[in-house]
Amino acid sequence: MRDHQPKHLDVRAPLVLDTRDLPRRPGVQRALSRVVPAPKDLGVEMIGVPEGSDLHLDLRMESVSEGVLVSGTVSGDLEGECGRCLRPIEDELTVRIQELYAYPDSATEETTDEDEVGRLQDDLLDLEPALRDAVVLALPVNPLCREDCPGLCPDCGTPWDELPEGHSHEQTDPRWAALQGLINKTETVSTEE
Ligand SMILES: [Zn+2]
Ligand SMILES: [Zn+2]
Repeated sequence: MRDHQPKHLDVRAPLVLDTRDLPRRPGVQRALSRVVPAPKDLGVEMIGVPEGSDLHLDLRMESVSEGVLVSGTVSGDLEGECGRCLRPIEDELTVRIQELYAYPDSATEETTDEDEVGRLQDDLLDLEPALRDAVVLALPVNPLCREDCPGLCPDCGTPWDELPEGHSHEQTDPRWAALQGLINKTETVSTEE
């Protein structure tokens, strides 16, 4: 067997890219376009790319002196919930990626931490951490269905967008209601006597 097994990365994983076809000569480039299923939890709490939906990778791998530079875009569908009215949001997302994957034993590999600069492992690289960072940075923490979403009626919890104009609730003061109950009771008691 000529191929040895990768120690950590699985070549079959959708976001693991194989650089074996890329000659190790600075400046040489290869285009890479593929559609892969989105990994789990790609996003933030309120909005993200649904697991298993199509992610379009449109990337370029370039040999540089210290490793392989991956750049390009990743795009996919977004699903989430409006932070004000809680109604579903559907959108599309495109993020730019630029990440260096250092050769083992290169100066870059020796002088940086693994979370600063990626690593090539057995000619494979894992795009997922860089992709996750780019997606999280691109997403709003508090997504809105529209910029001026009016949110929910505080009394019935219905989105204002779905309520007729002038919607309101009869305001009954709870203290008054309690007093009313007390009066009724007293009346009942006095009638019985
Ligand atoms: Zn909304
Ligand atoms: Zn209401």
